Order: sequence, then C-alpha cells, then structure tokens
Amino acid sequence: MKNNFASIHSRKENGTDSARSLLTEGVTASVWTPDYVLRLRQNIHLCGCSGCDGASPLLQFRWNNHVRHSADISCNRAAAEILSLTASCTLSVSEDLAEHLPELSAERLQMNQHCLRLFAAFRTEPVLLLYALYGFIRQSGPLDPERRAALLETWLQPAGRQRLVQDFCLQQDEHGFPPVAGQRLEALPIWLLVDSDARLHKLKAMRKKGEETLRQTWRGLQKASSARRKILGNFLFYELCHNFFPGHLVTDWENNFADLCRRALSLLLLLTAVSPELDKESLSALFAASHRAARREAFS
Ligand SMILES: [Zn+2]
Repeated sequence: MKNNFASIHSRKENGTDSARSLLTEGVTASVWTPDYVLRLRQNIHLCGCSGCDGASPLLQFRWNNHVRHSADISCNRAAAEILSLTASCTLSVSEDLAEHLPELSAERLQMNQHCLRLFAAFRTEPVLLLYALYGFIRQSGPLDPERRAALLETWLQPAGRQRLVQDFCLQQDEHGFPPVAGQRLEALPIWLLVDSDARLHKLKAMRKKGEETLRQTWRGLQKASSARRKILGNFLFYELCHNFFPGHLVTDWENNFADLCRRALSLLLLLTAVSPELDKESLSALFAASHRAARREAFS
C-alpha cells in the first residue's frame, strides 16, 4: 500500500523512546490517537501473523508540532481491531513535548481535520461520505484556510447536509458514485488473492465482468446490512487518520481520493465474498493478507 505522507518520520511505537533526548524545551505537540490504537495497546504481542511476525504493528508519525498514532493494517490483529464492528472510530487528543523534527503544516492538518469532521457527520453512509469528501476537496482546493473552514461549516448545517444528499442522489441516478470508469481496477489488491483462496472464488466472475458490475457493487452497499456499512466506514476512518487524507499537495488530492476509493472497493468486494456476520476473523485476516500481497507486488 502506498504510504503517501511523511513516513520518514515514522517509527515503531515502543516503551523506551530514545528520541526523548531530542526534546524541544517548552514546546508541545498535539497527539492524536485513534481508538483502534488504544485497543491494540492492550495485549500487544498477541499476534504472530506474517504481517507482524510477532512484533508490534503500532506506528507513530511524528512532527515537531504533531504526533499521529496508527497501526499497520497488514497485520491480522491490527486489521481486526481497525475493522471491528464495535469500533467507536474516535480520536483521543492529548499533548506531548515537541521534538526537533520538521513541522506538519497547519493547512495540511486543518484539511485532515475537516475531512474527519465530514466522517463524523456521514459515517453511517460510506458512499455518501465519499461523495462529501470528494466534493469538499474539489471545492476547497483553490480556497484559503479561512474559506475552507467556512465552507465546511456550511456543509455541516442541516440545509447544507440536505443539499448534499439531494445532489448525491442525482449523481447516483445519472452516473453512479464513486466514479469507476477509467480507474486502474485491475490493480485492486484483492485480485491478488482470488486465485489462491477458495473463499474468494465468487469474485473471479466479478473480475471479468468489469466496470458496470463494480458500479452496482457500490450501489448495493447503500442497501447492504449495517455490519457491512460499519466495516467500510471503519476503514475510511483508518484511511483518513493513517494517510492524513487528503494529503500534502492540493494537486495530489484527487489522485489520493481515487486511491482511497480503490482500496475501499477492494474491501467492499471482500465483503461480498465473506459475510462479516458469519466470519469476522476471516474477513480481517484476508484484508490484511491483501495488503501484504499488494506490498510484495509493489516491491517485486
Ligand atoms: Zn500480526
């Protein structure tokens, strides 16, 4: 999986942090910790899958002014906690002493926070949430930070939400959403497992049928069980936190959105093959395995 932000400052989380000697006196950093990290921290060494090999799947992304905790979703246990049906999808915010590291730009953090607020507003309807994220990044691109904040507030008002839902329904009827035409659908991580895992044979036919089938798969999600929508919503929360969506450069935002949709579609296809109500363990383990396979593919 492409990690499109400052992984150069990432480090595995552990108890003894040698970088403490590099603290910046009197300056604090905001620390954001998603709930899946809190759950993973309780029995950290419980997994020995080929994604973690028994090591901690926890990660930190650090700047001088911000620390973001996350986890590697290619570990089975991390994937299980991220996709958990009881996940609250909330962030704990605290402060820590700053270290001598580059700054995270205020604009980048602000846009990520705006997208997380859209998540909080539309989390029960993942396709509507994607539509809101897409519309928001497109309209925000040319605006200054103040106007972006004002735009978000308008969207979160009842009248703004209502208009968004109406526009979304029109778009769904006319073209479908998210757009699948022209995307590199053959590159979906889940296809890498289809030939080697009997539980996924159902997806073989879908791989051949192409774009219209995939468009219907997105449409079907709106009528799907709340468990399926919850799992997809959890994954979008993870993506927003872990990849600091929509990312650093405005010119990359739409590409980052397309990548986000491809990874979400991969999970959605998995949900059509493996029922989360019947087999939660298999679902998260297969999703973690698809990320491992995609990583191997990227480095081969
Ligand atoms: Zn693991």
